[in-house]
Amino acid sequence: MMCNRKGNVRVFVDCDDTLILFDEEAETNPYGLWRGDAYRVNEVLVDTLRQACRTCFTLIIWSGGGAKYAKAVSDAVFGDDLGEVDAWLDKGRPTFDLVRENDVVIDDQTLAVQCEQLTPHDIERLRELLHDNGGVTPAT
Ligand SMILES: [Mg+2]
Repeated sequence: MMCNRKGNVRVFVDCDDTLILFDEEAETNPYGLWRGDAYRVNEVLVDTLRQACRTCFTLIIWSGGGAKYAKAVSDAVFGDDLGEVDAWLDKGRPTFDLVRENDVVIDDQTLAVQCEQLTPHDIERLRELLHDNGGVTPAT
């Protein structure tokens, strides 16, 4: 799928219990990667992001564990192909203000942001959002 739209949808993706999943019974697994907890990649989510028209959205990986942790998880999930990810951020009150109405947040927890929020398993809705975006020819 090719189109000319760039970055009009920004997708903010959480790390622990979103990009990587844990089998442990704990409800959340902060710093799970660094703590050495057994994890598996949320392949369906990663595949959906990889298959979407890459020029149509901006991909931000963020974490309450900070930008360095977000980068570490991102490397584990996407490899070190920097083309996949646009930014790594600390996720918290100050950066919540970056989120705009038309953005999409994917997180295992509900955040204090004003945009559509998807769970890590809301794949059909994510496909709709990214596909719809990719299928529209921009007005010039
Ligand atoms: Mg999380």
